[in-house]
Amino acid sequence: MTVAKLVFWIAFGIGLQLVLLAGWAFWRHWLRYQELQQRLERLDPGRVEPVPAVPPLVVASGNVGWSGWRSLRVARKHLEDHAGSICSFELLPVDGGVLPAFLPGQFLTLHLSVPDAATGEKRVVSRCYSLSDRPGLRHYRISVKRVPGGVASNHLHDHVQVGDVLSVLAPAGRFVLEPGLTPVVLIAGGIGITPLVSMILTQLAQEPQREVWFFYGVRDASERAFHGQLRELSHNHPGFRYLACHSQSAADTQAREDFDHAGRVDITLLRMRLALRPYHFFLCGPTAMIDTLRPALAGWGVLPEQIHTENFGPSMGSKEPSPEVRKVATPPKRAKQMVTFRISGKKMLWDTNVVTLLEFAEQQGIDAPFGCRSGACGACQTGVTQGEVEYLENPDFTPDPGTCLLCVTRPRTDLTLTL
Ligand SMILES: Cc1cc2nc3c(=O)[nH]c(=O)nc-3n(C[C@H](O)[C@H](O)[C@H](O)COP(=O)(O)OP(=O)(O)OC[C@H]3O[C@@H](n4cnc5c(N)ncnc54)[C@H](O)[C@@H]3O)c2cc1C
Repeated sequence: MTVAKLVFWIAFGIGLQLVLLAGWAFWRHWLRYQELQQRLERLDPGRVEPVPAVPPLVVASGNVGWSGWRSLRVARKHLEDHAGSICSFELLPVDGGVLPAFLPGQFLTLHLSVPDAATGEKRVVSRCYSLSDRPGLRHYRISVKRVPGGVASNHLHDHVQVGDVLSVLAPAGRFVLEPGLTPVVLIAGGIGITPLVSMILTQLAQEPQREVWFFYGVRDASERAFHGQLRELSHNHPGFRYLACHSQSAADTQAREDFDHAGRVDITLLRMRLALRPYHFFLCGPTAMIDTLRPALAGWGVLPEQIHTENFGPSMGSKEPSPEVRKVATPPKRAKQMVTFRISGKKMLWDTNVVTLLEFAEQQGIDAPFGCRSGACGACQTGVTQGEVEYLENPDFTPDPGTCLLCVTRPRTDLTLTL
């Protein structure tokens, strides 16, 4: 063979390989393009996709552990975010006993004696705080965000120190992640991260193979809590995906902050990221976030029983009653009941635009006690000396005879309350 022929065949061989390689690359891109095209079609608004059958999640409820108030000592206190607005408290029992296991997502109710800024007089308030660590540890942990003007959160940040003792009700609440392998999507806005971080830590410790997505919406990096830990967990557990979403990301981009999405957690992001799978969604965040995402998920074909939500109350915007409660609470076609607040000396006709007795009392300027605003903690338990109430939903907390839970009741007849 001549040198020229040899060069020709070598060049021909290389050329052939290049053509095959290009063909293969083109074929792969074509397949990817087809997949994206199909996704785009699915994103067509108004189109509801068929959703595979969803295994039901059993939701537990009720208090576990102990009855009444138990003394827990603050064993450790530390900040969780750059802004210094979220502070964690680790609590150990004063009696030296064991802290019972809880379901991830449950909360504690704290009884705090807070001095009034003006008079110095002490006033007792009850507030709920989600457990932010996993069960099975020696301590319980809560993480509290400072709320401007907030009575309890500022007191905890500024005055409650290591060694102080808090009165605490046992873990309660129905916003819980049951063990299992059903894939789940957790979505937090701001401080709504606390119950979800407990779910993540529990899940990864118990069944790390479960598919868990976590979308964490904050304004910017300074507001983020638990970020380093969550990043590390997502690197070490292939089943766990973590996306930090910054709605005001300009400064973070300049500072080369580590985040995954510039913008809010919205339905477009969820649809782009999630495959069509029978996910259960757990949402905890501001009312606006939940009110936007719930119908958007429903529009995507997610069934109501697959959407679990928790709202922290006034500090996150007014606590909206569940759609079921709204339905029950349609104004009845009968004479209005007279509600008498014995201690405050106030007497008013029931306002049918109000959903609960708690809201009614607040509307009249009565300093009514409250905690969870959902019938779980018992903080709003109030004596009924005359008349009857009706419950808008079954409470987790069983009220004593002769009392009612203001946050989930309305008057059935004329009523006299010891408030
Ligand atoms: C189940 C559950 C779990 C929670 N978990 C956490 C948690 O993990 N971490 C956390 O930081 N918080 C959590 N919260 C919220 C927490 O219980 C408190 O509501 C929060 O700390 C604010 O309390 P505060 O006493 O500081 O504020 P408050 O003094 O109660 O005031 C809060 C804000 O709401 C306004 N406000 C007060 N009352 C009303 C009203 N009736 N209507 C409208 N606005 C009002 C105030 O002006 C203020 O801006 C949870 C709440 C619930 C129900």
